[in-house]
Amino acid sequence: MKEEYRLLVALQDLDIMIREMHDASTTQEFENMGFKIEGLDELTQARSDLAAKIPTMLLNRYERLAGHFKVAILPVTGDKCLGCFVKLPTSFFSAALRTELLTCENCGRMLYIP
Ligand SMILES: [Zn+2]
Repeated sequence: MKEEYRLLVALQDLDIMIREMHDASTTQEFENMGFKIEGLDELTQARSDLAAKIPTMLLNRYERLAGHFKVAILPVTGDKCLGCFVKLPTSFFSAALRTELLTCENCGRMLYIP
């Protein structure tokens, strides 16, 4: 798997964490359990550091998808897209494509072969 895809997946993880922190009900839930929500600034900073390392075209594509989907980039496991559960064409699994970032033809999410 290419380094830039790894970065993109890490970026998505941060986005999910940041989104959860912004979610007031999650915050309330955590606080009720006795946890204090801290580190949003650090996460946001880490996100922009990470984003700076990702090629602009790839980042733009991710940002566009992330606006539509909770998860924009997914690993391929089995023969289905884990975003929309539509079966992927067998061509996806050919050796030539293994290092490429693939696109689900049904939902448009980015898929990588881990
Ligand atoms: Zn899909």
